[in-house]
Order: sequence, then structure tokens, then C-alpha cells
Amino acid sequence: MNIKEMIEQIVTRENVLENEPMKIHTTFQAGGNARLFVMPRTEEETAKVVQICRENHAEWVILGHGSNLLVSDKGYDGVVIWLKKYLNGCWAEENEMIAQAGVMMPTVAREAWKCGLGGLEFASGIPGTVGGGVTMNAGAYGGEMAQVVKEALVLTEDGKLRTVSNKELQFSYRHSAVQSEKWIVLKVRFLLFPKNSEDIKTLMDDYNGRRREKQPLEYGSAGSTFKRPTGYFAGKLIEDAGLKGYRIGDAQVSEKHAGFVINRGNATASEIWSVCNHVKKTVKEKFGVDLEMEVKTIGSFEA
Ligand SMILES: Cc1cc2nc3c(=O)[nH]c(=O)nc-3n(C[C@H](O)[C@H](O)[C@H](O)COP(=O)(O)OP(=O)(O)OC[C@H]3O[C@@H](n4cnc5c(N)ncnc54)[C@H](O)[C@@H]3O)c2cc1C
Repeated sequence: MNIKEMIEQIVTRENVLENEPMKIHTTFQAGGNARLFVMPRTEEETAKVVQICRENHAEWVILGHGSNLLVSDKGYDGVVIWLKKYLNGCWAEENEMIAQAGVMMPTVAREAWKCGLGGLEFASGIPGTVGGGVTMNAGAYGGEMAQVVKEALVLTEDGKLRTVSNKELQFSYRHSAVQSEKWIVLKVRFLLFPKNSEDIKTLMDDYNGRRREKQPLEYGSAGSTFKRPTGYFAGKLIEDAGLKGYRIGDAQVSEKHAGFVINRGNATASEIWSVCNHVKKTVKEKFGVDLEMEVKTIGSFEA
């Protein structure tokens, strides 16, 4: 039996796709195909799929909403595990919200609002899943996952299910232990607080209005392409380097917000990658500052 057949035995045939185009699963809307694209229906199935990959020495990666990912044009010769299709529930328990890894952060924020629970307003416009949000310690407008996550159920590298506390998640700027420990986030418990629903809605509307005004939401992107270097703002450095509008093919430094590299329509991943490299090189030459990608990559970008 090959690895595809082994995985099909766990998740059924209809939940395993071959040569799936990743451009339809990433907000950059670019990149090649994944050899296998697997949609587990439960946490247990997720664990079994990872175990099969491990035993067969197959590379695997977890995909959320693909809103912080650039996939190589050459594709990914491994198994992409997509939690969004089935592991996407969320519900309130008193002052807490429980969310599965594949539910979108704006959905959880809206659910919390409906339940009169404050704390997740900052996440109402971040277009990623809860799993991706915890992995990245996603944040905006002074809020971040670190402030609201009480604990998470994770699958550890050796295949064990473990509940890890906020402290064990070791949140820092756009980073958490999920990245360094190679955990898989399966479920998250948020500790929120009672708040007037109208006040929650006003704040969410304000944040989302600011996003629409400042960010190039009409184009494909992965949000802020680079991390904020200590003491600077990436967008300001890029703008001051004269790079606003810099373009290779359909990949461009946004004219609206220089911190975003956008896809104007048909950009390839290598065009996006080349724009990013040019930005890094120019900012280093002009200001001596090293820009680090916030966006994660999958597959090879070597020429
Ligand atoms: C228009 C736009 C605006 C944005 N604004 C913001 C913002 O304000 N603040 C902000 O922080 N980010 C922002 N982002 C970036 C992005 O939305 C966040 O980083 C988000 O947390 C990524 O979630 P995702 O589900 O899309 O993750 P993906 O992009 O699918 O994955 C990101 C990384 O997390 C890993 N991962 C995903 N799910 C899991 C899991 N369950 N377990 C383990 N690892 C996992 C992936 O393997 C990958 O390494 C923006 C993006 C866009 C396109």
C-alpha cells in the first residue's frame, strides 16, 4: 500500500486530493501544487495522518487559511494537512470560548461578540484560522493571541495529545512555542470577559474600517510581509527606501501600504519572492536594517 492509500483508509478517499493547486488555498493566490492534500475529520484522524507521514518519512505541513504563507511555484512534494474543512467549531462556556484549530479568527470574534464576551475584537479582521493565529501569535491594534489564550490542545512531535498552558506556549512577537516545538494546534481555550455587545461591535467596526482604509485588501497578499524590526516600522523603511510600487511581473510593493507585497493578478511565487528579496537588500543597503520575513514559506525557492 502506498502512503496515499494508507491515508485514505483513515480519512476516506474523498478527503485526499492529489496535486492540489495551493494558489486556491493561500491568500497570495500563487504557488504550485501539493502532492497530497488531506482533510482529517477529527483530531484523532489528524494524529493518525501525521503518524503515517512520520512512519513513511514523508514531509508534511499544517495549513490553516494560508494567509501567512508563500508556496513555491515548484509546489510541495509532501502532505499538506488542512484542518479548516472539518475542525471548525467554536462555542462559549461561561467566560471562555473554545475553538477548534480550523475555525477562522473573525468567526470566533463574532461568536464572542454575540455572547457578550470581550477580548477578541482585535482578531475580528485577521483572516486566518485559530491554529494559525496561535502559531503566529497573531495580533493587531494592541491585542494579540498571547493576551487571550488560556490553553491549547496540541499534538506533540512524538504524537502525544497534550494541553499546554499560555505560559508553555511561550508567546512572543509573531512567535510561539508551536513553531519551535513543531506542535500541531488542535483546539484552543480563550479566557475572555463579559462586555457590552454594542461596545464590542463598535470596536470591531472601528478596527475593520481602519483596515479597509490603510490596507490593500482588494489584492492577494499575506498581510504584513516583514516583521517589525526593533525600533522601526517595516512599511516606513520600505517607503523611505523609495520602494513603494516596486514591481516584478504582477508582484508589487503595495502603493497603499508599503509593508504589504501584493499580487496584482497573476504573480508567480518566484516574482513575489524576488520582490521580497529586493526589498530586503535595498533596506539593508540604505538603512543597515535587516528585514525578516513574517510570511512562512513552503517548498523550495532556490533557482
Ligand atoms: C489582508 C491580511 C491582513 C492580515 N492582518 C494581520 C494582522 O493584523 N495581524 C497578524 O498577526 N497577521 C495578519 N495577517 C497574517 C495572517 O492572517 C496571520 O499570520 C494568521 O495568524 C495566519 O493564520 P492562517 O490560518 O492563515 O495560517 P497559515 O498561513 O495557513 O499558516 C501559517 C503558519 O502556521 C502554521 N499553522 C497553521 N495552522 C496550524 C496549526 N493548527 N498547528 C500548527 N501550525 C499551524 C503553518 O504551518 C504555517 O507555518 C494578515 C494577512 C492578510 C492576508
